Amino acid sequence: MRLDNSERLFARARRLIPGGVNSPVRSFGAVGGTPPFIVSGSGARVRDADGNEYLDFVGSWGPLVLGHAHPSVVEAVQRAAADGTSFGAPTERELELAELITRAMPSIEMLRLVNSGTEAAMSAIRIARAYTGRSKLIKFNGNYHGHADGLLVKAGSGAATYGVPTSAGVPLGYAAETLVAEYNDLPSVEALFDANVNQIAAVIVEPVAGNMGVVAPADGFLAGLHRLCDDNGALLIFDEVITGFRVAYGGAQERYRMRPDLTCLGKIIGGGLPVGAYGGRADVMQMAAPLGPAYQAGTLSGNPLATAAGIACLQELAKPGVYEALEALGAETEAGLRAAGDAVGVEVTVNRVGSALTAFFAGSPVTTWEEAASSDTGRYAAFFHGLLQRGVYVAPSQFEAAFVSLAHTSEGIAFAAEQAREAMASL
Ligand SMILES: *Cc1c(COP(=O)(O)O)cnc(C)c1O
Repeated sequence: MRLDNSERLFARARRLIPGGVNSPVRSFGAVGGTPPFIVSGSGARVRDADGNEYLDFVGSWGPLVLGHAHPSVVEAVQRAAADGTSFGAPTERELELAELITRAMPSIEMLRLVNSGTEAAMSAIRIARAYTGRSKLIKFNGNYHGHADGLLVKAGSGAATYGVPTSAGVPLGYAAETLVAEYNDLPSVEALFDANVNQIAAVIVEPVAGNMGVVAPADGFLAGLHRLCDDNGALLIFDEVITGFRVAYGGAQERYRMRPDLTCLGKIIGGGLPVGAYGGRADVMQMAAPLGPAYQAGTLSGNPLATAAGIACLQELAKPGVYEALEALGAETEAGLRAAGDAVGVEVTVNRVGSALTAFFAGSPVTTWEEAASSDTGRYAAFFHGLLQRGVYVAPSQFEAAFVSLAHTSEGIAFAAEQAREAMASL
């Protein structure tokens, strides 16, 4: 496989853009080598600047549940663009997207659209602090909630990959407001509540962890969190930026029958364009300006192109049979990866929830950050390059999810499983 054009572009990009990329994991820092520069995508496939084609399991890191360049999304964006790309005034599409989201997730009584998952989490936390009049936050080791100051504490993939548990440039005072508990470990949460009586505004959690690789919530974990929050006057925030409209139409809260106080969304609700949202209980959301004292704003928030793409995407996902299809394709991918490991005697632990999954190079179950972190990342890097050479594109880090889209087929997944077997055989 030649990457001559990508190598040239990467060299030019590194002179102008730190690491040559606009989001760190794209630089292949954890696996080495040159990232292919992508020129186009269609369905489940992407093509790079040297004409190489790949079957894609990254899906833009989650948003592309319909695959690349889905006709409904492309048409919606083209039509919206022709009518003007931004007004900074209310538009009907914002309301339509809000209605689709609130109908899918009954816990969301009111919501606000923003431009990224980072903004959604940052704003949800601000409003939780405004509502409770408290400042401390509990998050989980290995969970990621975007790159806002104070959330870059033990934040999973990016931080794990680069060995920076807490980013430089974050004042100690901000990070000190963030308390870190262990995912799937209720006593670790209880201990923090006990040590910080009446100081904790909220607990924020990825209801299915996705940024340490996929790790499902243990039985009773999410319900236990809600009980601890209620008992202590704190709000429960579900960060469903990955899981929303992914693990069920109504997200993890539908799948696990939960009703969080606040929810963060992003990725899929933008259909591949930049969108985020935060919402939840009306009494909490009414703290947001202009109704309440918590300021939050955005020049491009509710953007016409982004809302058009999001509406088109959610309308496709609302069709019958969609989540059954995603579940079946996810199960085939899981089975293929397990069979590949078994065939060549490589220990892999495959975690999957719906169409999101991770193959950990670990010999025992992965249910916590510590267990995820004990995976063999050297092996993952070799596996990753073996797949890339064979035309299968997965995330360049052990601590990420692979995403199956509706554009994937059983034939494509069988092809990927065969390539995985060959890649594992040469480890
Ligand atoms: C991707 C992600 C974010 C951040 O979203 P951006 O759009 O990248 O800012 C927040 N939370 C979770 C769970 C995510 O996976």
